[in-house]
Amino acid sequence: MATNKRKILLLPGDGIGPEVVGETKKVIDWFNKKKSMDFKIDQDLIGGASIDKHGKPITDEVFYKAQDSDAIIFGACGGPKYDNLEFSKKPERGLMKLRKELKLFANLRPAICFKELVDSSSLKPELVSGLDILIVRELTGGIYFGEPRGIKPIENGERKGINTHVYTTKEIKRIAKVAFELAAKRKNKVTSCEKSNVMEAGILWKEEVQALKDKEYKKIELNHMFADNCAMQLLRNPKQFDVILSDNLFGDILSDEAAMLTGSLGLLPSASLGEKDKNGRTRSLYEPVHGSAPDIAGKNISNPIATILSFSMALKYSLGLEKESGLLNKAVEKTLEDGLRTPDIMSKGKKKVSTSDMGDAIISNLN
Ligand code: NAD
Repeated sequence: MATNKRKILLLPGDGIGPEVVGETKKVIDWFNKKKSMDFKIDQDLIGGASIDKHGKPITDEVFYKAQDSDAIIFGACGGPKYDNLEFSKKPERGLMKLRKELKLFANLRPAICFKELVDSSSLKPELVSGLDILIVRELTGGIYFGEPRGIKPIENGERKGINTHVYTTKEIKRIAKVAFELAAKRKNKVTSCEKSNVMEAGILWKEEVQALKDKEYKKIELNHMFADNCAMQLLRNPKQFDVILSDNLFGDILSDEAAMLTGSLGLLPSASLGEKDKNGRTRSLYEPVHGSAPDIAGKNISNPIATILSFSMALKYSLGLEKESGLLNKAVEKTLEDGLRTPDIMSKGKKKVSTSDMGDAIISNLN
């Protein structure tokens, strides 16, 4: 029977993925029940879990489900068990396939420092208190996908490894537009990062971003910064940034660095957005920034907040529910104010809780 319900696909994956997505599912159920939402939840395998059952990191059936959903909530994939698999068969290929084939070109990673957790950061409290940065990373181009690539034999029995960093005007403008539009709803400031001092693709990046700003986003303040300088500035004075725009490779590194300014990987959500399809629906995948954390998997001690906040981003960017997203963010904040902490963010005088306790407390604050 046809249904107009909005489809949310849960792909927990490996390691702590099932734990953190499990807590997020409780939150989604809460919205269905208490706010009369129409979310239809489906759940399936990806990564190592899919390899174990089907011999491949994602099946066609799961891919089609992903294609047909309004939002995908992904946990994490990978783990030591799969480390020796051939590259094309690794768990991560499932996620890469979704990113590439759903054309999820824009990765949004907020780095917000909750006032309750200022002391968890490795930087001085005055540097991070009130921090609110948004990193916009290009996700489907650049060196992670460029051709030619591979490992080839050369003379003398040696080998060479090849990856190609390549960007077109269209790809650069598409991601820069996302950064400018988001900055317009924030502090109107974009810092675009590249290495135009040593890379031609960096020169093109800088020129195209500037041209788009001059043509369509005159009110936005745009700065260009070398990516290595940005890495340093994030530690020296992170509050100078509003939106940081970057390519796939540099964005990968800068967003992990920004992540640590806030104290724990377990707190950082992300969204990956595509272009609108013909029905006006934006393809999207939401996931915590962290990986599968095999060292703590199965112990009910992982922090589910990054995944729960990823669902909050889904409410805002895919489901048109900005108010509800705010409500969920407040419930998370209140839970931290109440002093509840999973071990990764534990500090003196606070109450240590498990993954499921943290999920329950967030739901109780939603209530
Ligand atoms: P990781 O993010 O899994 O873990 C890094 C450290 O942070 C670990 O000590 C871990 O215990 C801790 N940590 C991470 N998330 C946490 C949480 N929610 N709560 C508490 N502590 C948390 O990174 P890693 O160790 O480099 O990688 C482990 C595996 O995850 C590898 O197989 C890697 O390939 C995979 N990985 C997957 C993704 C993804 O699926 N998107 C991303 C990164 C790494």
